[in-house]
Amino acid sequence: MDLITKSVKGTQDVLPKESYKWQFIEGIMRQEAQAHSFKEIRTPVFEHTELFQRSVGDTTDVVQKEMYTFNTKGEDSITLRPEGTAGSARAILEHGVYNDGYPIKAYYFTSCYRYEKPQKGRLREFHQFGMEVYGAASCFADAEVICAADSIFKRLGVKGLRLELNSIGCPTCRASYHKALKTYFEGYKDKLCDTCLSRLEKNPMRILDCKSPICSEIAAGAPTVLEYICDDCRDHFEGVKKCLDAVGIVYTVNPKIVRGLDYYTRTVFEFVATSIGAQGTVCGGGRYDGLIEELGGQHTPSLGYAIGIERLLLLLESQGVKIPDAPTCDLYIAGLGEAAQLKSFGLVKQIRASTLSAECDIVGRSLKAQMKYADKIGAKFSIVIGDSELESDKAQLKNMRTGEKIEISLGDSFFNEFYNVYIASQFVSQ
Ligand code: ATP
Ligand code: MG
Repeated sequence: MDLITKSVKGTQDVLPKESYKWQFIEGIMRQEAQAHSFKEIRTPVFEHTELFQRSVGDTTDVVQKEMYTFNTKGEDSITLRPEGTAGSARAILEHGVYNDGYPIKAYYFTSCYRYEKPQKGRLREFHQFGMEVYGAASCFADAEVICAADSIFKRLGVKGLRLELNSIGCPTCRASYHKALKTYFEGYKDKLCDTCLSRLEKNPMRILDCKSPICSEIAAGAPTVLEYICDDCRDHFEGVKKCLDAVGIVYTVNPKIVRGLDYYTRTVFEFVATSIGAQGTVCGGGRYDGLIEELGGQHTPSLGYAIGIERLLLLLESQGVKIPDAPTCDLYIAGLGEAAQLKSFGLVKQIRASTLSAECDIVGRSLKAQMKYADKIGAKFSIVIGDSELESDKAQLKNMRTGEKIEISLGDSFFNEFYNVYIASQFVSQ
């Protein structure tokens, strides 16, 4: 029985009294995406397992240890998406969106699923906002998405985030880096974990983001990728830095960032906070020039990033960033008796047909209890309707903040009269 009222480990509910925080953050993200002409993409919560094996990479922690994979009744292997890029890249390809011309700019809000050890800032179901560009090779594209993420954090009032930047090169320069890494890690063969031992041959770069303490200690002394990147990749990286310098975005080059997903090439970046403990990376992204090709399409230089929304919320809370209060009810109409209740019901309907909000009693409260409720929900105005109000078709409109009362018609001009008083009060409160 207990199970019925317990959420699954590593999942979180967003309750009605908290959802305004999510909506506020999401609103800023949408605004920023629109300012950069990105359009929303929505893809299914599950995909064929093979899609993630191909794109995220089958030597990554995500694919090897963290995916929620199951067989359907038709025996297909299905995986709950661990991230948002693979699904949108698949959709872009499947629907030939590239026929509309490049660049394709898309943003998404997704829930993601990873079988990880739940802790602060690390969940099994979490949410990401992401921005993606397909078909843009220039360093200006890298700078554009970095600027967009930076701007979201600034608009939200987040302080002290560090932008860390690196280039992990292209498949050509990666070959010599892999060789250097292999030579280095072979010296520690007896100490590496089993997963990393198997990565040594196939993809030694993945050892760099192994979470096991021994592997990470060994990885700390490994050669860094920046020493191995080719001239083209170096020029691109210099270009990205130049663009960021031009608009005053501060970054530090961290040659140790390699990112946990295989599809990354060239630029990789993270926004890191120091104030929320070990899970300090609130945003991760970079280029994935080979991804579309890997999925069977034509060479399409692409890039993007994702922000972890739960981590961002933790960060905002830890910094005491004020999120504007949830909007409260504009008008509460209390009714005494059935006829008054019916009248109230019709009047709130009129208010609701505008952009304003209104409530009347739907639980059968006494008049006193209705007024108490109007107070509790922070209604901006209230009206009480009883027999005499019904008879005169007039009532007192009360400004709940100032206590001021004004007579208002309950007839045809009700909405217009209320609206005028409401708008006037908005000017006063500014
Ligand atoms: P980490 O190194 O912390 O595991 P990651 O490199 O796996 O992060 P990405 O795949 O780049 O993360 O995802 C982008 C963002 O999504 C992260 O920066 C983080 O904010 C968020 N995120 C990733 N995994 C989780 C999780 N399990 N719970 C909550 N947020 C997460
Ligand atoms: Mg991870």
